[in-house]
Amino acid sequence: MQWLQKFMTGRYGTDPLNFALILLSLVLSIAFAMTPLGAIGSLIAMAPLLVAFLRMFSRNTARRARENRAFMKLWNPIQNWFRWLYLSVRYGKKNRYFLCPQCGRIACVPKGTGRVTITCKNCRLKYDKKA
Ligand SMILES: [Zn+2]
Repeated sequence: MQWLQKFMTGRYGTDPLNFALILLSLVLSIAFAMTPLGAIGSLIAMAPLLVAFLRMFSRNTARRARENRAFMKLWNPIQNWFRWLYLSVRYGKKNRYFLCPQCGRIACVPKGTGRVTITCKNCRLKYDKKA
């Protein structure tokens, strides 16, 4: 395994964007398996996987990190929304959950509190909500 360690020295490795690309490749290959596209569909499904491997072995780590930051900027609001949905369904009887309109951080307020001004712990934005 020392050869692998030596090979990966100075290379970027993996990050959430690579994970998303691998997942996208998997979803595409399943989707194309249900269509009559066959080999062409498989090639299209392999493209994100190829990009993920190229990123993983890249030595331009600054650029890969920048790509990942751009991806996380897009992905975080989506992830926060799903987290908000989960919390609202799971603990919705006891608490109300609100997404900060500026940064998307979730705030929790006990149900029945009434009108409250929430100060976001992340960006310090103040917004009014009814819990
Ligand atoms: Zn905020």
